Amino acid sequence: MKVERKQSVVLVPFLLQGHLTPMLQLGSILRSQGFSVIVAHTQHNTPNYSNHPEFIFHSMDDGLKGIDMSLPSVKSIYRMNESCKAPLRNYLVRMMEQEQEQEQEQDVQGDQLTCIIYDNNMFFVDDVATQLRIPSIVLHTFSAACMNSMVTIFQQPEKYFPFEDSQLLDPLPELHPLRFKDVPIPAFNNTVAEHILDFFRAMSDIGSSVATIWNTMQDLESSMLLRLQEHYKVPFFPIGPLHKMAPLASSTSILEEDNSCIEWLDRQAPNSVLYVSLGSLVRIDDKELIETAWGLANSDQPFLWVIRPGSVSGFQCPEVLPDGFEKMVGERGRIVKWAPQKQVLAHPAVAGFFTHCGWNSTLESILEEVPLICRPFVADQPVTARYLSQIYKVGFELEVIERTVIEKTVRKLMLSEEGKDVKKRVVDMKQNIVAAMQIDGTSHKNLNDLVDFISALPS
Ligand code: UDP
Repeated sequence: MKVERKQSVVLVPFLLQGHLTPMLQLGSILRSQGFSVIVAHTQHNTPNYSNHPEFIFHSMDDGLKGIDMSLPSVKSIYRMNESCKAPLRNYLVRMMEQEQEQEQEQDVQGDQLTCIIYDNNMFFVDDVATQLRIPSIVLHTFSAACMNSMVTIFQQPEKYFPFEDSQLLDPLPELHPLRFKDVPIPAFNNTVAEHILDFFRAMSDIGSSVATIWNTMQDLESSMLLRLQEHYKVPFFPIGPLHKMAPLASSTSILEEDNSCIEWLDRQAPNSVLYVSLGSLVRIDDKELIETAWGLANSDQPFLWVIRPGSVSGFQCPEVLPDGFEKMVGERGRIVKWAPQKQVLAHPAVAGFFTHCGWNSTLESILEEVPLICRPFVADQPVTARYLSQIYKVGFELEVIERTVIEKTVRKLMLSEEGKDVKKRVVDMKQNIVAAMQIDGTSHKNLNDLVDFISALPS
């Protein structure tokens, strides 16, 4: 007699905040659909277990002891991929042995391992899953536009690298609205090293995985998703925005959130505050910090500014803030080390978001109808900034980091007619995304299809 057991999925998130969060959100969705969820995570940036009693956690020795991962190098990511192989394989083998014992004893208590879902930066999982004949699925935590641009560039890198300074603003062949300066693969001195290309290829390669999940919406990125699906030739499940699709209520933050800024926001007028945050990884130099500080001060608009410890190269903030800045802004400005961002963006006082255009921040902002000032740095951020400013037209891109330009851009977003148009478009964009989440919407349907797909996987 076949023993019917609950199906379990093993999730393998990448250790950075912007990757861990969407994976836990996906876990919470799958849990609500009846799967049991195991999170196999690195020791570095271990999630807070007590915030997620619904998951089983398994910690893997990641080989990163003593390595500074505040800005992970390609070498350290490869090292982590290598180190995690044996711990994951051993854990899965143990699980499979237990399952066999339970099956022999006709025990219906245990779960049945159905598949592994892994972040595309954890590419070692493909090898482990293939060896053990466990189906695997890749989660992409950034936009299809970004992945499409990478895949296009890999096909003929010589068309894109090296480029001249004089080409920085020229359009990238076949990748409208991107320019050479927006390439999503880090280019130093306008060229890209072969090992960097190889790394980005590795994380774009889905190996023998049987499907891909995307934190995006089919309606928003249909052409890009179609092109990618032709490339990957496996089922695609765009089920975003994960932060709204997930029933997960508890915090996924690695850093401690300073909730006092919500009380400060409560004291501000509706629709008056600019929220400023560059995410969990970006580092700026002191010159940029000073220009931003004066730009914000001179704009005369209230602002809530996240300055993460260590995010200004060589300084511990707030020592680096310019003399006279705090006196000039007084109660009009509030600085915190880390904010409860989703709550901040949902606050009625918040009118705009000065952002690095990380994909989570972007979706969180749009879903709260908050228009953006885009100050991208690397990887997917310049791609997202171009789409936000040139295609969706829900934000202004900051091309020059200079106090007068920052001041003007803040005022344009918060006070001008152009700013009102941008606000209208972000409201429309949010409504379209909300439609995708409704019962007959694409994200909702894709999620149902994903659940059916996982349920039908051979075990
Ligand atoms: N975040 C937060 N508090 C902050 C700044 C960021 O909780 O003060 C969260 C934010 O809500 C988002 C994540 O950190 O979910 C950042 O991810 P994103 O993809 O935007 O950028 P990354 O940090 O990966 O560059």
